[in-house]
Amino acid sequence: MSLIAAIDDVKSLLGPRGWLAGEDMAPHLTDFFRRTDGTAMLVARPDGVEEISELLRLCARLGLKIVPQGGNTGLCGGAIPRAEEPSIVLSMKRMNRLLSIDPVCYAVTAEAGCIMQTIHEAAAGVNRLFAPDWGARGTATVGGAISTNAGGINVLRYGNTREQVLGLEVVLPDGRVWDGLRSLRKDSSGYDLKHLFIGGEGTLGIITKAVMRLHPRPSHVQTLFGAVPDLDRLMELFVEARNILAESLSAFELIPGSTFEMALAQNATLRRPIETKQDWYVLIRASGNADITARLEELFATAFDQGLLSDAALAQSAAQEDNLWTIRDEIPAGMVLQGKMLKWDASVPIDRIIPFLRDVEATADSIQSGTATYAFGHIGDGNLHLSIFPRPGTDAAGFAAMESAIDRVIWSYRGSICAEHGVGQLNYTRILGQKPAIELEMMAKIRKLFDPQGILNPGKLVDPAPKQD
Ligand SMILES: Cc1cc2nc3c(=O)[nH]c(=O)nc-3n(C[C@H](O)[C@H](O)[C@H](O)COP(=O)(O)OP(=O)(O)OC[C@H]3O[C@@H](n4cnc5c(N)ncnc54)[C@H](O)[C@@H]3O)c2cc1C
Repeated sequence: MSLIAAIDDVKSLLGPRGWLAGEDMAPHLTDFFRRTDGTAMLVARPDGVEEISELLRLCARLGLKIVPQGGNTGLCGGAIPRAEEPSIVLSMKRMNRLLSIDPVCYAVTAEAGCIMQTIHEAAAGVNRLFAPDWGARGTATVGGAISTNAGGINVLRYGNTREQVLGLEVVLPDGRVWDGLRSLRKDSSGYDLKHLFIGGEGTLGIITKAVMRLHPRPSHVQTLFGAVPDLDRLMELFVEARNILAESLSAFELIPGSTFEMALAQNATLRRPIETKQDWYVLIRASGNADITARLEELFATAFDQGLLSDAALAQSAAQEDNLWTIRDEIPAGMVLQGKMLKWDASVPIDRIIPFLRDVEATADSIQSGTATYAFGHIGDGNLHLSIFPRPGTDAAGFAAMESAIDRVIWSYRGSICAEHGVGQLNYTRILGQKPAIELEMMAKIRKLFDPQGILNPGKLVDPAPKQD
């Protein structure tokens, strides 16, 4: 059968509302920061698990490749089809319903295309908390968050997305449906297969529904914004914050002064929380059911006495809370405006994070003096988002040399170059340097077991047929 006839078969299966072609596909073919572009034969927009099942059956029969896509906010090109692998994008946009919310079982069931923000609002409506949260909450979907095992600002207290998933419904590459949509807290009946799909980046199956965990909604939430006079003593501040705030510590984020100023410059509605200017700032959020203001004040007094903070402000209203966290959310977009850069989503053991950052700065400078290095992120999780802007005019070889030198620094700390954004296509070959051959072999075998025809998300995550030495 010709390719045109095969695509016609897919179109008639989905009906006129179920697909996009031509220029209508454009938003699905480039990523949020426009770092990855692709091409597709069609964008499929199925509505319902049965349609996805039939679509996969048809694609398996016709040998058509499929790239699942949720909100397309992923940062590694995982949801963008590669030009080298003619594919159909499977958009989950129409499968966006929240199916049920159960405050007694602390669980929410949603279709995979449901936007994260929808769940946040529904959970708040029944006095519960949905923990996964980050800047793209208004666009990212449940299926995308699960498939990348996304992190965000609440990991310190509640864990990654993996920790929030109770059950999944998945369509396998051959079209069969696995109903694992269970909300059990305990089930020791063998391999817990949902974990293969969590962080699976759409290589093993299409997640169609999920049951996610909810938490008690804290009645008090308050954030301290502080100026850090000595970055090398940041972990002393982190230890004090954990000692004083204990389980109420829910976020500990680092913001460089330069990106803080960028955020204020690009969004005129933002307010400067403190006048003291410093190279580094922290956002420390506490939440709980007792009044946490006294504990945050104690933290500030202790930190000030010990020279760990030079100034700080405590948010006193919802508007001030919002102002602080919008500053944080604006940082990634602000960086992109600065020009061509190299980016890392690095994790290292928490106690090594500052020596690691110093090492990165020194390594970048030794390769090209005067290189601008920015780091922000989730200090409490040992996760830094690093950006390096090589000098204008640096060629591709210069970029590549910088990239591999910093990768090696990360690995020398036994860290990961994919902390929370996944592998996608941008890290597809780089990740080979991070994992032992036996681990890559196990991953490749799992992929082949689920998808022997190589239909799902080709050229992402792991090579199913790694070359032998
Ligand atoms: C401004 C901004 C801030 C961000 N901050 C953070 C942050 O703090 N922490 C963090 O972890 N991430 C962050 N991200 C990255 C991104 O939001 C997350 O990776 C998110 O989970 C992606 O969800 P999505 O629905 O957009 O998925 P997509 O980008 O559409 O897809 C991501 C991957 O999942 C696969 N996939 C999507 N849906 C399905 C499905 N139903 N079944 C199978 N596979 C599927 C895709 O094929 C792809 O491999 C940020 C992104 C932006 C733009």
